[in-house]
Amino acid sequence: MNRRMLYRIVLLVWITGFFLMGFGVWGFQAGHLMVMGYLLAGVVVYILAAFIIRCPKCRMPLLLKPMKLLGMVLYRWSLLAPERCRHCGEILE
Ligand SMILES: [Zn+2]
Repeated sequence: MNRRMLYRIVLLVWITGFFLMGFGVWGFQAGHLMVMGYLLAGVVVYILAAFIIRCPKCRMPLLLKPMKLLGMVLYRWSLLAPERCRHCGEILE
């Protein structure tokens, strides 16, 4: 199994979990808070992953897309890993 497939599976599991949990707990008194908690936990995990997962060759974060705007380098966040490193062009497994 390659990296892109793994990311898709993780994303799918997270979305499935979100809907299953959402339908399961929405009727509870604090159900919407639990859904918000799950969403926030997912965002935190994604932010950690975006900084931890790096290109094996040049060590740039893979989920952040650098782009230049008016001389500044800004980063766009993407959910799925690219096929190649956007920094050095290394093909990722
Ligand atoms: Zn690279």
